[in-house]
Amino acid sequence: MLPKKRGKIAFISVHGDPAVNIGKEEAGGQNVYVREVGEALARKGWQVDMFTRRSARQQETIVEHSPNCRTIRLTAGPEEFVARQQLFEHLPEFVEAFFHFQNQSETIYPLIHTNYWLSGWVGMEIKKRQLAKQIHTYHSLGAVKYRSIAAIPFIANTRLNVEKQCLETSDMVVATSPQEREDMRSLVSDKGNITVIPCGTDIERFGRVSREQARQALGLDPATRVILYVGRFDPRKGIETLVRAVDQPEVRQHPNLKLMIAGGSRPGQKDGQERERIEGIVSELNLANITTFLGCVEHTDLAYYYAAADICVVPSHYEPFGLVAIEAMASGTPVIASDVGGLKYTVVHEETGLLAPPQDEKAFAQAINRILGNSHWREQLGQAARQRVETKFSWDSVASQLDELYLEQLGQLHQEFLTSSVVS
Ligand code: UDP
Repeated sequence: MLPKKRGKIAFISVHGDPAVNIGKEEAGGQNVYVREVGEALARKGWQVDMFTRRSARQQETIVEHSPNCRTIRLTAGPEEFVARQQLFEHLPEFVEAFFHFQNQSETIYPLIHTNYWLSGWVGMEIKKRQLAKQIHTYHSLGAVKYRSIAAIPFIANTRLNVEKQCLETSDMVVATSPQEREDMRSLVSDKGNITVIPCGTDIERFGRVSREQARQALGLDPATRVILYVGRFDPRKGIETLVRAVDQPEVRQHPNLKLMIAGGSRPGQKDGQERERIEGIVSELNLANITTFLGCVEHTDLAYYYAAADICVVPSHYEPFGLVAIEAMASGTPVIASDVGGLKYTVVHEETGLLAPPQDEKAFAQAINRILGNSHWREQLGQAARQRVETKFSWDSVASQLDELYLEQLGQLHQEFLTSSVVS
């Protein structure tokens, strides 16, 4: 049966292009979130247009992902990669390009779901010029991020101001974990509406192959003990903590160890520098013979790596949500994660994995040792992890919660429209 037609939504994701290859610099959780949520909502009957900035001349303007779900690239600033810190100045052009697109296609989007503070600013500008409801997801909060980095970028003040305005004026802000809601309240503003709707994952893709099948496909011996990292090369991701943890005696005592690190990097760019730094530590600690850098791995193949791993480690200093944790959990693999942000919510300590203080290589080493040393417990943790994702974090369940939120917002918009027409 075809789903009931719902309405049109514009997703705005200025720097997170939902149609690009994931795993590269500046391509991570936000791209996956926008794309997956967009497609899931389209299946529920919404017409979803996802607006992003063109970052290369040869990119197509419109990419159709599925019936009712497409990426639309607007030109704002140079048609090349621009780091997030430099994007703010190009946003007025993005707003104009958005209105131009609406005019040309004779469309007005009543619902605007903005992602990250840059798009939040765009959403606030759109709302100044047309009747619309803005729903906002931060993906990362400046107020939290700046606590854990040494060099604060010049854009920090602008970002903090926009984040505050966004919370106070959006019709609804979506926090992806209870921790993020608390952070917003204590660090950003006590005004504004917040609801918690988590991120999700594809529970069909992750969890389809068994450990044995995955290991066979990847040519991994059943006796190998695989510790997996998946994600961007960014100092905030804490890969160094993991590498140093693997070097601790309690981990090194395990025979047949293998450390696999998945994630793309580009030579000469920030992520390329972090990869070189990590490679340097790996060779300094004599871990090169047990470490493999896999490069950027597509989701279809990642499903095999997650399933084959004994443990997936997410050692971030700060993580607003952390999709990698739930992808590994969906694949039946226990996760050892930093006791921060969304990870505190997704990973249940001693039930689906273990939590450890960020940047504490000793604590990570102990956690790795505890799980590697008890294969029966490892199995139990993995099963509980899968169970938790099935009940709480499938894209369909996330999309159902968003569906309800949008319907509610549309209802309010109609009311406001009727009231304003009666008054005038
Ligand atoms: N990812 C991928 N291939 C890689 C590395 C990462 O597809 O080689 C994906 C990963 O599966 C996840 C996303 O990139 O879906 C990272 O999201 P997360 O929320 O963990 O971190 P973020 O990048 O948003 O900080």
